Amino acid sequence: MSVDSSQLVHFDAAKLAKVSAPETGPSKRPLFGLDFEALAARMVELGEPAWRGKQLAEALYRQRVATLDEVTTLPLVLRQKLAKQGWEVGRPEIVQVFQSVDGTERYLIECRSGATSAETVETVWMPEGDEGEAGDGTDSFEAAGGQTGAAAKNWRRATICVSSQVGCAVNCKFCLTAKLGLQRNLSAGEITGQVIAVLDRQGIEVGRDRVNLVFMGMGEPFLNYDNFMGAVGLLVREAGLSPQRMTVSTSGIVPGIERFAEEPADVRPKLAISLNAPNDAIRAEIMPINRKWNIEAVIDAVRGVKLRPRERVTFEYVLLGGVTDKPEHAREVARLARRTGLPVKVNLIAWNPGPGIHYEMPREGAVDAFRAALARAGVPVYLRRPRGRDIYAACGQLKRTVEG
Ligand code: SAH
Ligand code: SF4
Repeated sequence: MSVDSSQLVHFDAAKLAKVSAPETGPSKRPLFGLDFEALAARMVELGEPAWRGKQLAEALYRQRVATLDEVTTLPLVLRQKLAKQGWEVGRPEIVQVFQSVDGTERYLIECRSGATSAETVETVWMPEGDEGEAGDGTDSFEAAGGQTGAAAKNWRRATICVSSQVGCAVNCKFCLTAKLGLQRNLSAGEITGQVIAVLDRQGIEVGRDRVNLVFMGMGEPFLNYDNFMGAVGLLVREAGLSPQRMTVSTSGIVPGIERFAEEPADVRPKLAISLNAPNDAIRAEIMPINRKWNIEAVIDAVRGVKLRPRERVTFEYVLLGGVTDKPEHAREVARLARRTGLPVKVNLIAWNPGPGIHYEMPREGAVDAFRAALARAGVPVYLRRPRGRDIYAACGQLKRTVEG
């Protein structure tokens, strides 16, 4: 499967050339990524009142400005002063868009502001989501007075899949991102910027449109914990998104889950664990991280998270043909789910192929049989629809960036 150039709808060659060119001259300082308090402190340093920081935060995260010129709530002289001191908005920018036949869009987003190395990361827009959000408490939240759908749009509930690192160090055997290794962590601003750039492109009105965020793109969020939670804080406090509409997925980094358990409920996203196997033996084979933290250790840590009413923990389960998709595996997963004593739901994902990864997709019928077996055992189970496979946007396919 290759990416057809006709699906490439926006390609800014000049910008991409800059991505690989080293930065010259004094490095710019990004405002994007700073929260209201930090912005207020910068303003006070410049001899301005602290409330100017609030105006700046509004401009960055609510009005979604891309340049200082657009921050018209600040006097021109102040904007000029900021620019002279090297400040810029510095929001990550969409430089390339791939569109799938199913409406999914995969973006290359350029992060280059400040002292960090220029990199492109991948972010995915899925109108109508992929069913992964079903049954984990989001709907009951909506029934309890959440937002209404976007009348003017051709989708009712969309999902943005966000990256937390460039590449990943965890090395799961079935995942294409693993092939990159870890290139670098993304900053809080770079994680937040992916979301703001996509909200902007899609003309989303926060508070009206139903948009879910899943931190399931490139990288392991719990190995970049501070920046990941920093981004969640910005998205909740500054951009006004609900943490109950956000899900973070981890491969099972126990110290990260333990820290997550300490987060206050008003900024804590929902939790998904990439279980992916019915037992430690198979899990260790496909996810070497299981040798460090096995299934029991991960579940123990999850037990420390104080769930909201009706909230469920998601177990993600990638069905690998002949490896994790057999009927006895389904029975084992059902027993495991019950044994946790936690309100869980299972999200099944048929494995998405990628070059150089030698697994097989589940055989015809195996996915349905697996789902039926879990349902019979009384475990809530959902099937994630693969979105944007034709543009390499589906789960575990994020890697093919500029070389695509
Ligand atoms: N690193 C985190 C989040 C990113 S991966 C984690 O592993 O949880 C997001 C999800 O994609 C995980 O559940 C992972 O198991 C799944 N995944 C990875 N590669 C896949 C592939 N090739 N096909 C289907 N799902 C895959
Ligand atoms: Fe990293 Fe998640 Fe891929 Fe594993 S599945 S290599 S943790 S991105």
